[in-house]
Amino acid sequence: MTETIDKKIALVTGAGRGIGKSIAELLATKGHHVICVSRSAESCGAVADAINAAGGSAQSLAVDVADNAAVLAASEQLLEEHGNIDILVNNAGITKDGLLFRMSDDAWSDVIDTNLTSCFSWIKHLARPMTRKRWGRIINISSVVGLTGNAGQANYAAAKAGMLGLTKSLAKEFAARNVTVNAVAPGFIATDMTAMLNEDQQKAIVGVIPMKRMGSAADIAHATAFLASEEAGYITGQVFTVDGGMVM
Ligand code: NDP
Repeated sequence: MTETIDKKIALVTGAGRGIGKSIAELLATKGHHVICVSRSAESCGAVADAINAAGGSAQSLAVDVADNAAVLAASEQLLEEHGNIDILVNNAGITKDGLLFRMSDDAWSDVIDTNLTSCFSWIKHLARPMTRKRWGRIINISSVVGLTGNAGQANYAAAKAGMLGLTKSLAKEFAARNVTVNAVAPGFIATDMTAMLNEDQQKAIVGVIPMKRMGSAADIAHATAFLASEEAGYITGQVFTVDGGMVM
């Protein structure tokens, strides 16, 4: 099933479902060993098992990415096992929507911790060996709402915009070490996350997408796999918007 023999070690968070699952599967078809991380051992384990069954190479690890100590422990374990991680995809994310006056402190901090602080933690623990090796790819899965804002998603939009500031700052810090840092900003993608929206909400969303359809997880996976490739080595600090033409 592999396309290349330039095997790298890739870690994908939120690989148990949706966009992360699709990214993990595609990176495996490129010949990379993929470490599938998600909150539940069942979901990331099933994805890793399916990749291995299809002839790829994968392992799974259940980590709550919002728990800094757990991210540190996982990073140490993985660096001990593999020496270094070449490709890091920060994809795990949650929503806890609500208008500001009704947003609880926990809804704010859970979303910031899971979506933004987790990126800081993984990068802090895994990027040093990349800089030593003079090769690395870090891809942060943000969102178009990080560019535009969205009523009812102040926590989520702040986290996703924060990921863009993190991406651009670290792109500058790591550029001379040949470690690129980019973001992908998906529009509306058909996954469990958007399945939470009711039919009227989904219709309204499709109405504002110039391509008149939601994207697929594979649409995001292809953009991510390109940014992870050797060929994307001169691209850093960029935000790839993949949204059917919504934000231009
Ligand atoms: P899903 O809800 O389908 O899947 C989320 C994945 O993240 C799951 O595998 C889940 O683990 C994992 N996860 C959530 N919280 C944690 C945690 N604390 N620790 C470890 N893993 C965690 O999401 P999508 O695939 O739709 O979204 C993926 C990313 O893309 C998110 O960052 C999201 O914000 C972003 N995005 C999505 C859009 C969309 O329209 N779907 C649009 C724009 C951005 P488990 O399987 O164990 O539950």
